Amino acid sequence: MEKNIGILTSGGDSPGMNACIRAAVRTALYHGLKPFGVRRGYDGIIDDDVFLMDSRSVSNIIHTGGTILKTARSPRFRTREGRDAAYQNLKKRGIDALVVIGGDGTYRGAAEFIAEHPDVKIVGCPGTIDNDLYGTDFTIGFDTAVNTAVQAIDKIRDTATSHNRLFFVEVMGRDAGFIALRTGIAAGAEAVLIPETVTTVDMLLEMLEAGRQKNKSSMIIVVAEGDEEGGAFAVAEKVKKRFDYLETKVSILGHIQRGGSPTYADRVLASRLGAAAVDALVEGETGVAVGVVHHDAVRIPFDHAVKHVQDLNPALLRLVKILSL
Ligand code: ADP
Repeated sequence: MEKNIGILTSGGDSPGMNACIRAAVRTALYHGLKPFGVRRGYDGIIDDDVFLMDSRSVSNIIHTGGTILKTARSPRFRTREGRDAAYQNLKKRGIDALVVIGGDGTYRGAAEFIAEHPDVKIVGCPGTIDNDLYGTDFTIGFDTAVNTAVQAIDKIRDTATSHNRLFFVEVMGRDAGFIALRTGIAAGAEAVLIPETVTTVDMLLEMLEAGRQKNKSSMIIVVAEGDEEGGAFAVAEKVKKRFDYLETKVSILGHIQRGGSPTYADRVLASRLGAAAVDALVEGETGVAVGVVHHDAVRIPFDHAVKHVQDLNPALLRLVKILSL
């Protein structure tokens, strides 16, 4: 088995990445391996920005957001030259196994790399707030992001009720409505607009009108940033012209959803997956991502993970409708 393991975080940061790094480092030490930290994702391999870690390198980080290894998007790693340079650096240091923590793009990059350099083994951990990765029920950071959004909307609700307002709250999710859907249910929103389902402005106006007839004095609509009608500002503009019963306001939650101390659920998930990734490498696995499905740790090939889309739970969509009556 390889003696030197590189660990990196890549793509968008998410709360719980640090807990995952900690678990990977300590599991590597447990197996008698040498863990190396790679700074700034794939760029760090290309620039040989790599350092030896020990158990104390990951002290006091389980509760922190962001990533101590820093993260980056690396256009150079998308090129053959960049990946070849990365390979040479890994060989030089005797690193022939990597744990990569990131999203869909990170998996694609890893798959590309091992197709060209199969003597380096790579296992991925799902680190993204969006939950849009196939092969795990939840990604590291999703639970924290939803909790942050829910807490923000709880505060917005105070103003909405006090002033009789209609609030459009935009949450993250350019391609996926997972954050919006769960946030909407937990925050008691009247409706949730997400890219996966079509809700026209006419349909929305019908819902708002029904709310008015039931004497609702305030309403909250959660909008995923990638909704087909546009973000919260665009939707609010269209609605305002035809619904003036309540004053309309918009709030974009933005980057607060990416940061902050991870919830217990994200810390446990990240710890499990960081350890599972190193265990997989020790068992000789490569080209797979680890995940938790129905409470069990699983491994899924990168190719499979990036070609499939995690489905939204239709029962949750139904729930939004019923609970907004
Ligand atoms: P995420 O992992 O959060 O989806 P990105 O899409 O930015 O974030 O991907 C992270 C990095 O993975 C990119 O900056 C790039 O270096 C690498 N990557 C993504 N797609 C590919 C690809 N098809 N080939 C090689 N590298 C890729």
